Amino acid sequence: MRRKEDAICLRTTDYSETSQIAHFLTRDSGQVRVITKGVKRKKSSAGGALDLLCEGEMVFITGSPGKLGTLVEFCETVSHSPLRREASRLNAGVYMLELAHELVAESDPHPAVFELLHNGLARLGQKDSPVQAVLAYFQWRLLRNVGLMGEMTNCVSCGRAIASQPRPRGMEIFFSSKLGGLLCDACEGSELEKCRVSNDVLTGLVVLAQAQAGRKSALPDSQAQAINRLLAYHTSRQIGRSLRMAPYAIGHT
Ligand SMILES: [Zn+2]
Repeated sequence: MRRKEDAICLRTTDYSETSQIAHFLTRDSGQVRVITKGVKRKKSSAGGALDLLCEGEMVFITGSPGKLGTLVEFCETVSHSPLRREASRLNAGVYMLELAHELVAESDPHPAVFELLHNGLARLGQKDSPVQAVLAYFQWRLLRNVGLMGEMTNCVSCGRAIASQPRPRGMEIFFSSKLGGLLCDACEGSELEKCRVSNDVLTGLVVLAQAQAGRKSALPDSQAQAINRLLAYHTSRQIGRSLRMAPYAIGHT
């Protein structure tokens, strides 16, 4: 079946001298995998080799479930060239692509994730945008959209309020990827898989929740970085491998 979709290129691999296999995140068809026959030749119908991050309208023939589709045409509308000029922004952008590639399944539509990636890349391309805060917001919203993250305000085990409460001195809070949420000190003992959560994370989570509710407030770099590391830990536990771009985009994980 022939389809036309808004799409962002997440990943390309060379298949032969003249073709690539490209993964796109589309607005209405989830992630699609297509072969771009002859695309590396000049004047091909798709107009030359595809680059990561390029965004536009694609026409493709869908494959049967689990099989490659075929790219017929790609008309680039956004090149995201501003973010290609600065390494930290480019690394963050490619990290966003990796997250979308890992977390959105083939043929599983997530229009909200497409919008999130489109907006996140555009924001990263703005010269004055705070890279770590843009990434933190993107990761958090993405995980929530694909159902891998809950409210992060209460203990997932006993329900006790955590994020909005002043934490008593000496009380430690943990995060469990398996349970997908925060654990209070009374409940953490029974979980083997967990990591300690800092005050920066807890304070930053309140800021993110406020932003989602439409009350914008700045997310300081230290909080954004702490959140990015926690969410990268969660994502890599969920997919069962480490994220290739995480060390470049957010530092040590
Ligand atoms: Zn608890």
